[in-house]
Amino acid sequence: MSQPQGTIYIVVAPSGAGKTSLVAALLQAEPDVELSVSYTTRAPREGEVNGKSYHFVDRRQFEQMIAEGDFLEYAEVYGNYYGTSARWLRERLAAGRDILLEIDWQGARQVREVFPDAIAVFILPPSIAVLESRLRGRATDSEEVIARRLSEARSEIDLVAEYDYLIVNDDFATARQDLISVIRCQRLTASKQLQRHGSSIAAMQTAR
Ligand code: 5GP
Repeated sequence: MSQPQGTIYIVVAPSGAGKTSLVAALLQAEPDVELSVSYTTRAPREGEVNGKSYHFVDRRQFEQMIAEGDFLEYAEVYGNYYGTSARWLRERLAAGRDILLEIDWQGARQVREVFPDAIAVFILPPSIAVLESRLRGRATDSEEVIARRLSEARSEIDLVAEYDYLIVNDDFATARQDLISVIRCQRLTASKQLQRHGSSIAAMQTAR
């Protein structure tokens, strides 16, 4: 039997919705899901490791990669480029791996044009007021940055109908379980189970 093709999961959220912590918790619970490491022109933050958090490149390198068609999708977010390697993703999918893309809404749209079966998940805060207090709690952003992130969040929330699953991150443990459930559900669909257990199911069907 040929190797089953993996599934692409796209996780999008407004800044401050808790996406990074939820994705980290998911990857710990489901080690068979691989995180795509994006390319970016943004400077590394403290503690970020090149090749693990991102592949950090300069603008010239990024633009050369665009010209060479290296990206499945890319977008400019807050003045920096971010992009997903097309080759890495196709190789991992062909090896039957499930891939998680932690990207923005623009990238999500582009990926779904190429892979309409990709599963898109949007993580919502319980309210704009809670989002605002979470952004303020970080104490790293200026008033201007907070206002910009809130206005961006409202625009992203306008697009939630484009997604397959919506997870409200009010209680972290619940949201974590919800995100894990999305992956589990997807793996249990008849088409995926037939790929995985096709021969034993066929044997049961013919055993009379
Ligand atoms: P940050 O700079 O905070 O790590 O990420 C800023 C935004 O860029 C987040 O919304 C993040 O999901 C998004 N992002 C990260 N990697 C990619 C990527 O490869 N493509 C796109 N389109 N967005 C990305």
